Amino acid sequence: MVKCINFVQFLVFMVFIYGYFCQDFGYDGDEGPSEWGKRYKQCVGKHQSPIDIDIHNVQMVNLPKLRFDFFNKPLRNVRLTNTGHTVKMTIEEGPTPTINGGPLNGTYEFNHLHFHWGNNDTHGSENMLNHNSFPLELHVLFYNKYYGSLDEASKHTDGYLVLSFLYSTSTRSNKHYDLFESGLSKIVKINSTYKLNNFESLDKFTTARKDSYFTYEGSLTTPPCSEIVTWIEFRDTIPITHEQIEHFRQLNGPHGKLTHNYRPTQNLNDRIIRMNSSATLKTSSLLLGWLTICLPFLLNLIR
Ligand SMILES: [Zn+2]
Repeated sequence: MVKCINFVQFLVFMVFIYGYFCQDFGYDGDEGPSEWGKRYKQCVGKHQSPIDIDIHNVQMVNLPKLRFDFFNKPLRNVRLTNTGHTVKMTIEEGPTPTINGGPLNGTYEFNHLHFHWGNNDTHGSENMLNHNSFPLELHVLFYNKYYGSLDEASKHTDGYLVLSFLYSTSTRSNKHYDLFESGLSKIVKINSTYKLNNFESLDKFTTARKDSYFTYEGSLTTPPCSEIVTWIEFRDTIPITHEQIEHFRQLNGPHGKLTHNYRPTQNLNDRIIRMNSSATLKTSSLLLGWLTICLPFLLNLIR
């Protein structure tokens, strides 16, 4: 019996050691994105993310308005964690934001947010717009409340939602990131965590305009690359300075500084990207209305 317990303890210890020191995927060499498919079959699927969004090859749509709940509420306590792959923020205390409407069937509940970046400001985003990369990308991950839990939702094609925001470099510091960046300096080591008090709100942390976006069906951008994600990629970028982005590059990864953590774009294959832009559609409708009224008059003039 004693031997048995010792063996179980040894196994638990080994699992802990593996989890702590061994990363099962990375962004370079043998662990890099081109190798993920060997271990995770879904990573070579046909509906993978990220993608390069070609704005000339999108279907214009006017979807129902997205409804954001608790996005404007301050969060009393949030926790930052250096996972070795990224920085992840979870809510410890405060209302849990939810979202519905737009392309979504049902309500999706916030789980966490995390980032992707590059080793310089010319690249780092995962999704691209018209072949352009951005220095940083924020992913806010939600799961479909209908399934009751993140784990159960991961088994369904409409299980997850990612709100994705791109960043542009600015000369003016973005003050809404001051608190978050003070936390980054506390989680340089892998697996370290730090609690932040009085996080402003998800609204302040993202773009003000949220009615102009692209949406498509895709996957997680890290193993196991499950094809269960509805993506909403916002058109407006979040301004941030070079110095502010540098804070992300100071985090430790499994092989020194985590200088980059983005997966290259994947083929679109048979998917259609939809673009919701009520503003553009309103302009088109106005133009159409104007033409309908004025065209007979103009034609009469020509005759
Ligand atoms: Zn991500």
